[in-house]
Amino acid sequence: MSTPATMKPTSTAGSPPPQAAPLPTQGAPHLGTSTISVHGGEARRKPSDAITDSIVCASTYIFDDTQSIIDFIEHKQPREEYGRYGSPNEKVVEGKLAALDCGEDSIVFSSGMAAIVGLLMTKLNAGDEIVFFDQCYHRSREFCYKHLARFGVVTHQVPTGDFAAMEAAINSRTKMLVSESPTNPHLTCIDLEQFVALAKAHEVETLIDATLATPCNIRPLQFGVDYVLHSATKYLGGHNDLLAGCITGSKEKLDEVRNLRGIMGAVNAPHNLYLLQRGLKTFELRMQRHNENGQAIAEFLQEHPRVEKVYYPGLPSHPTHAIAKRTMQGFGGLVTFLIKDADWRQTADVVDRVKIPRIGPSLGGVESLIEQPLVMSYFSQTPENRQKFGIPDNMIRMACGIENTQDLIDDLQQALET
Ligand SMILES: *Cc1c(COP(=O)(O)O)cnc(C)c1O
Repeated sequence: MSTPATMKPTSTAGSPPPQAAPLPTQGAPHLGTSTISVHGGEARRKPSDAITDSIVCASTYIFDDTQSIIDFIEHKQPREEYGRYGSPNEKVVEGKLAALDCGEDSIVFSSGMAAIVGLLMTKLNAGDEIVFFDQCYHRSREFCYKHLARFGVVTHQVPTGDFAAMEAAINSRTKMLVSESPTNPHLTCIDLEQFVALAKAHEVETLIDATLATPCNIRPLQFGVDYVLHSATKYLGGHNDLLAGCITGSKEKLDEVRNLRGIMGAVNAPHNLYLLQRGLKTFELRMQRHNENGQAIAEFLQEHPRVEKVYYPGLPSHPTHAIAKRTMQGFGGLVTFLIKDADWRQTADVVDRVKIPRIGPSLGGVESLIEQPLVMSYFSQTPENRQKFGIPDNMIRMACGIENTQDLIDDLQQALET
């Protein structure tokens, strides 16, 4: 029950609830991932002594008087102003995400794509150039080629992992090098030390989309990468029930990104942020199972007579296994494989016969998902384009959820029986 005293308006509008010092999670790699994901970014003492954060639904925040507005403008009183510029639930999630990646600051967007668009729109001007490794999420590439191009930004695409080609594409107008690690669906891992060394030699910035790895399996900022991006829709949210994205890095580099986000308005509703905060509580536990399931299923598929090839960075047969072992703590839940001597229809039959994974795009949720990239993402593309992006007709991508490992293997076993 609230006492009348706690219900009385106080003179310090917007003052934070009484709290002890927050856990020192910011940039503190000595704390384990689960400790950070459970406690990071949260006040030790919350309103009503609740253990959980409340969902603050406000679109706007009120001031006591004119002087308190001026104090806020002059940065004397940290507080909220208007929902597009930030919210209490957003601050908590951003604190967790920054700490998980050992970054100074993190900015949460309404989706992974909004995060990429927000970052590139902030950092690039007409005449600037960027260089991409080509195994990149196709919408990120599309944004650069179709849209950044309209504003005079030039994009170069070079074969993934080919640092000589990347270096050759760099010139005095180059501003940023961009890659995913691992990539989708080939799971190619990038040598981050080489990536950062190349960027530093040419004084350009670096962006790694680490959605497939998550801060559990890789922390690109610790290699000297400038910006790490996640589609929080995937493993960070983890339950296939929300869209969100984030960019993590130094506060200095991110301040302008935050300002542009306030103009773009690509922010999350407080309810969505609460879902993300709640999903993050079990982040490391879920990742452990995703990693285990990914490894076990990759090993099972590799031995199966109907499987021609398996792409999984945790397999010694993967071309970038050595890099993965050096840079990653685990190899994730995504497994890509080819069905031996199968046309697209016979491959579709395998997808249609699985009983536990659901058929759909996306990855990183507790529910396993399965899809044939040819159908799901490349159906309207020409065969030449599919070949260029390395998408054969007999490819299947499975995003392992957290179901029982043996159940998933048994299910694949029956689906692979002709
Ligand atoms: C899903 C995904 C994105 C886009 O994120 P959304 O949250 O869907 O906007 C970007 N990069 C990678 C690697 C992804 O898997």
